[in-house]
Amino acid sequence: MNLIQDLEILDDLDAPRLTAEEAEGARKVYIETYGCQMNVSDSEIVAAILRAHGYGLTRDPEQADVVLLNTCAIRENAEQKVRHRLDIFRAHKRKQRPGLRIGVLGCMAERLRHKLLEEEQLVDLVVGPDAYRDLPRLLEEAETTGQAAVNVQLSREETYADIAPVRYDSNGVTAYVSIMRGCDNMCAFCVVPFTRGRERSRPVQSILDECARLVEEGYREVTVLGQNVNSYRYTENGTVVTFPELLYRVSLISPELRVRYSTSHPKDCSDELLHVHRERHNVCNYIHLPVQHGNTDVLRRMRRTYTREQYLALVERARRIVPGISLSTDIIAGFCGETEEEHRDTLSLLEEVRFDHAYMFMYSERPGTYAARKYRDDVPLEVKKRRLQEIIELQTRISLENNRKEIGRVHTVLVEGPSKRSPEQLCGRTDTNKMVVFDRQDFRPGDYVRVRITDCTSATLFGEPLGRTTLAESAHTEPALV
Ligand code: SAM
Ligand code: SF4
Repeated sequence: MNLIQDLEILDDLDAPRLTAEEAEGARKVYIETYGCQMNVSDSEIVAAILRAHGYGLTRDPEQADVVLLNTCAIRENAEQKVRHRLDIFRAHKRKQRPGLRIGVLGCMAERLRHKLLEEEQLVDLVVGPDAYRDLPRLLEEAETTGQAAVNVQLSREETYADIAPVRYDSNGVTAYVSIMRGCDNMCAFCVVPFTRGRERSRPVQSILDECARLVEEGYREVTVLGQNVNSYRYTENGTVVTFPELLYRVSLISPELRVRYSTSHPKDCSDELLHVHRERHNVCNYIHLPVQHGNTDVLRRMRRTYTREQYLALVERARRIVPGISLSTDIIAGFCGETEEEHRDTLSLLEEVRFDHAYMFMYSERPGTYAARKYRDDVPLEVKKRRLQEIIELQTRISLENNRKEIGRVHTVLVEGPSKRSPEQLCGRTDTNKMVVFDRQDFRPGDYVRVRITDCTSATLFGEPLGRTTLAESAHTEPALV
């Protein structure tokens, strides 16, 4: 089977991001990245570490001497997809490339180290998310001993602050900057605290330096990343820098740089943070604010630390302080013990908030989590599926209705590149994170373009371009009805 074609079998949501940019080197590494934006950002760090040690990078797995899968353990099907890919690469190694080294990085490495190494003997390398600096040594070890090499040590300090990531999969316009790692929240369903360890924040100055470098290189948008990004907290010369302060400082780097962040926890979404959105024209009017569920009892069982009412009050505050702010969310259907009535509370919360977008999942039990230890995963699969379907149908209708209201408005769009459907068209995002497609004319990636919205689906806006603008110029003037 063709190693790349096989990827097309994988569906969109959990599909991997490909791979590093090409770079010369004695031995070539191919990296495939699964899961969240943090993993994409981590793969850029891995690419930087390996390049500094003389490795080359390739987008073609057939050419690779080393294949690395940077993995996700958040749901069972994410893991199954990686296992399927491992089977393919192992067959390739057996039949065509006996010298190939196969490595598992990231969350699955942390969770399944023994299984991958001892029981199944699937891989040559198992490296957890805090051990990437050790990769060159581990590769060397696997090479010389012919044995599997492993480092899954979690750290309380590692932030990779001094490593300049190799930007790959990049459009040269938007970039991720990782600002904190790990998570201390212990939501009952979630494996992240076990696979990524304790929360730790990266030094302020190293973040500002990286963002400033990106601006110099021509980037127009940074998304600062963390599993729980708004609990960022770094003590500098005896003073604490919190997330709102950091965001403010990043926004001062350039008036033409858009600033976003992901993912925030509702408990840390303070008024101070909302006021930074309001005051700074280049901090985007958009927050991804995962609610997970619409029923307070379920939220308590999930250990989310807020009630339905507190979440709704937060939404109300956000919309009062930052008029026009766009919100998106994550939802889990079929959590342990979820009754039909509790499920209907999720539907009614969606109706009430009217998010612009949602990521919607069926609950998947993860070994070792609080929920796996304390509750029964007792909602039958068929019921989970049906409830998820109801949630998806409702949210798709709401997204479409929200988007229809955009028709006639003018948005400033940052051009990211050609649209997927046609090279004659460009795509880019509004301040509120909505994807817009419009005719190319003479616009280029990195341009800010005023676009009048003429049509939409539930996921995309379509429009006609009115001309170039600057971010500073367009601040406070949109979205206008013309
Ligand atoms: N830190 C973010 C937060 O607290 O909202 C979320 C990070 S998590 C990587 C992304 C999303 O995956 C979560 O918001 C949740 O909706 C979903 N998720 C996590 N564990 C899950 C599980 N066991 N089953 C289904 N969905 C899950
Ligand atoms: Fe997982 Fe909760 Fe941490 Fe998000 S906040 S990464 S859902 S434990």
